Amino acid sequence: MTVPIRWRLTLFNALVIGAILVVLGFALFFLLRQTLLSSVEDAARDRALAVARSVEIGEGLEESDGGLVLDDDLVDAIVFDGVFIVVRDAEGNVIAETVDLPAGREARDEVWRVALEAGRPAYGTVEFTDEGGPDYVYAVPVRPAEGGPARVVEAGKSYEQAAENVRALAFVLAFGIGVAFLLSVGGAYLLACAALSPVSAVVKAARRIAEGDLSKRLPVAHPKDEIGDLTTTINAMLSRLEGAFARLEEALARQHRFAADASHELRTPLTSINGYAQVLEEWGLKDPNFAPEGVAAIKRESERMKGLVENLLILTRGDEDISMNLERADVSQVAEEAVKAARAASGGKVGIEYEPPEDEIYALLDQERVRQALSILLDNAVKYTPVGGWVEVEVKDLGETVAVKVSDTGTGIPADALSHVFERFYRVDEAREDGGVGLGLSIARQIADAHEARIEVESEPDEGSTFTLLLPRKNRNLK
Ligand code: ADP
Repeated sequence: MTVPIRWRLTLFNALVIGAILVVLGFALFFLLRQTLLSSVEDAARDRALAVARSVEIGEGLEESDGGLVLDDDLVDAIVFDGVFIVVRDAEGNVIAETVDLPAGREARDEVWRVALEAGRPAYGTVEFTDEGGPDYVYAVPVRPAEGGPARVVEAGKSYEQAAENVRALAFVLAFGIGVAFLLSVGGAYLLACAALSPVSAVVKAARRIAEGDLSKRLPVAHPKDEIGDLTTTINAMLSRLEGAFARLEEALARQHRFAADASHELRTPLTSINGYAQVLEEWGLKDPNFAPEGVAAIKRESERMKGLVENLLILTRGDEDISMNLERADVSQVAEEAVKAARAASGGKVGIEYEPPEDEIYALLDQERVRQALSILLDNAVKYTPVGGWVEVEVKDLGETVAVKVSDTGTGIPADALSHVFERFYRVDEAREDGGVGLGLSIARQIADAHEARIEVESEPDEGSTFTLLLPRKNRNLK
C-alpha cells in the first residue's frame, strides 16, 4: 500500500517535531526542577550558616524565663519563607527552635549528630515536622567564641512548595508540548496540501491532454518554484510535440493531396491515349486517313505524361533530400546557358534579352539544378507571354546574395493567386490549354530551398511578372 506523499510528509514531520519537543521538554523540566529544589536547599544552608555565625559570636541566643530563646530580630530575618531553625546542645537536646517539633522527634539520630561528630556541616532529607512532605535539613556545628558549650544549628525547609511548583511545571510543559505538537503537525499537513495542490491541478490537466487535446497547457501557479519549473518544462515539451504533430499531419495531408492530384493528372493523358488507340483500332486500320491524327495525339499525350512523370520524380527525389553537388560557379554563365536553351525552345515566339553583369559573379551552387530552376522560370515567362512580347533576364550582385531576375510582359498573375503559384498542381487558369500541370514553380522552389535561396514574385495582371531567384553566396570571399 502506498501512503500519499502529503501523509508521508506529515508523518515524518510529526516524528521529527515530536522527538524535538519531547527532548526539549524533558531537558527543561529537569533543569527547572533542579533549580526549584536547589533553591530550597540553598535557603536552608544560607540560614543555617547565618544563625550558626550569630550563635558563635554569642548574639543568636538570649536568656528568657530561665531558658534560652533565639534572638527576635534574627528570627524575623530568617523564617519568613518557611525556613525553620532548631538549636541543640552537644547531646542533641533542643535548646531553642522556631517550630514545634512533634514529641519524640527532638533527639532522633538525625543530621545534627553527623555534623556534630564530623565537626563540619552535614545535610540530609528528614521527616522533620508533621506538616507533610520531606524536609531538607542543613546542620552546622558551633563552638561559641568565648568557650561556651558546643551547639549545633539546624535549618530546614519543606520541599512541599517546590514539589507543588514542579508538578505545576510538569503539567504546563506537557500541555504546551501537546498543543505545540498538534499545531505543528496540523500546520505541516496544511503546508503539504498547499505545496502539493498544484500537482493535483497538473495531474488533472495532464489527463485531459493525454485524452488527445495537445493544444491544452498545464497550469503554472508559481513559475519560480520547483513545480512551476517542471510544468513550464512540460509545457515547452508539449508545444514542441504539438508543432511536430501539426507538421506531421500537414506533411501527411500534403502527401495525400499530392498522390491524389498526381493520379488525376496522369489519368487525363491516359484517357486520351486510350481513346485514340480505340479510334485507331476501329477505323485507322481500315482507313489510313485516321492514322496520322491518332498517332500524333498519342505521341503528344505520352510526351505530356513523360514530362509529368519526370517532374513527379524530381519532386519526390527533392522531398527525400538527395545530396547536392555544390561547387563554386559563375551564376551569369549558368543564367546565360538557361537563356540560350529558352531561346531555342521558344522558336522566336517572344524576344529573350539577357543582361550580363559587368564581372563574373561566383556562388556555391549545384549548377544543374539552378539551370533547371531558371529554365522553369524562363519557360513560364515564354509560355504566359503573348507572341511578340519580351522576356528579360538580369543577373545582379547584391553582396551577400546574387539575384537572377526573369521579367516578362505577359499575362501577369492576379494578386490573390500570387501566394499559391508555388504550390504543387496549382494553376491560375485551369482551363488554359498550353499551361503545364502546375509543378514547374514547386520544383523551382524546391531547388531554391535546397540552396537556402528564395524566389520572390511580383506581378501585375496584363502587364507582366518578375520572378527573382535570390541565391546566397554562402561565402563572402567568393568573387
Ligand atoms: P505550370 O506548369 O502550369 O506552368 P507552374 O508551377 O510553373 O505550373 O506555375 C503555376 C502557375 O503560375 C501557372 O499555371 C501560371 O498560371 C502561373 N504562372 C507562372 N509563371 C507565370 C508567368 N511568368 N506569368 C504568368 N503566370 C505565371
